[in-house]
Amino acid sequence: MTVEQTLAELVSIDSVSARLNAEIISYLEARCEALGFTVERFSHIDETGTEKISLVALQITSQAEAYAAVELALVGHTDTVPYDPTWTEALKLTESDGKLYGRGACDTKAFIAATLTAIESIDLKRLKKPLALVFTADEEIGCLGAKRLADARPFSARYAIVGEPTSLQPMCAGKGYCLAEITVRGREAHSAYPQLGASAIFRAARLINRLEEIAEDLKSEARAEFDPPCTTLNVGLIEGGTAKNIVAGECRFTLEWRTIPGQESDHVLNLVKRAVDDLQKLDPDFICQIDAARADESFETRADSPLVHFLEESSNKPSGTVAFGTEAPSMIALGADAVVFGPGDIRVAHRTGEFVPIDELNRCVAILRRSIEHLCL
Ligand SMILES: [Zn+2]
Repeated sequence: MTVEQTLAELVSIDSVSARLNAEIISYLEARCEALGFTVERFSHIDETGTEKISLVALQITSQAEAYAAVELALVGHTDTVPYDPTWTEALKLTESDGKLYGRGACDTKAFIAATLTAIESIDLKRLKKPLALVFTADEEIGCLGAKRLADARPFSARYAIVGEPTSLQPMCAGKGYCLAEITVRGREAHSAYPQLGASAIFRAARLINRLEEIAEDLKSEARAEFDPPCTTLNVGLIEGGTAKNIVAGECRFTLEWRTIPGQESDHVLNLVKRAVDDLQKLDPDFICQIDAARADESFETRADSPLVHFLEESSNKPSGTVAFGTEAPSMIALGADAVVFGPGDIRVAHRTGEFVPIDELNRCVAILRRSIEHLCL
């Protein structure tokens, strides 16, 4: 089967994160079992009560300890972001101009198709060191499947290639992703008599001003290899108050921040708490609740890792960094030097008409095959 045929089959299976992913897992399971892999399912229940499955397929070598320590893990997420219903060919891989279009064609089914094709071109019996294929659930909604695997520890790995569209550039560091929901309380009153109340919106505005100052201060700690080079923060959503003539009793907003490696994920949270303390000194009634919703670590794999070297050489591209969240931290938790790598461009992912260039897809097959032979033989 060609890599394009495999990609067409993967794209035809609707695996939007909100759906059950049993169908795509069964497909991958069958492909892996046909190649002699030992497969194991790991499931979790998502917040809508739907069962989501991640699959670990191990190529066991003669060593009995293979289960414990694999040399190389190839990791691809099975879920995709939703697609617009007007994109009628979202599930039908379509070729045009040297590109293959379809939901997930770029992010990240191209990498999975390249992985299966690379594996099928290798005589696996020749491998002396164990290889793992890892197909995860719910990456697009918070890397949930990979995090569960990192907790379950079904294996440890020396090296991991995490499939994401990087235009075949090895990415050896990535920013963390953290989110908090902040609720500022006030006291409602008729707006003709504001002195009888306390506006939660004015209070939230004071806090948000401080957050903007924190964002400025964060620029002093820079890592030149990132774009932008510092930890960034964003207030993306805000709502508050109940009517134009009522002093607002409550105001809620989201605070999101993306940390550079080497900075603790709670560093920003501590700065925010300090700002709240300062505001409370000026206004003893200032009541604010901070609910930390997410704290995904940044990651960094040493530049002199043999995996980074090998992928730089094979792709003929220097290693870089990513600003988006990936499953690399979970692989690092399993002991791996993790590199994010795959065909397609992240800038076309997640949009109607996402695509993977055919030449990149084929080059990825060749690079993955050489990586397996280089590391596992
Ligand atoms: Zn992805």
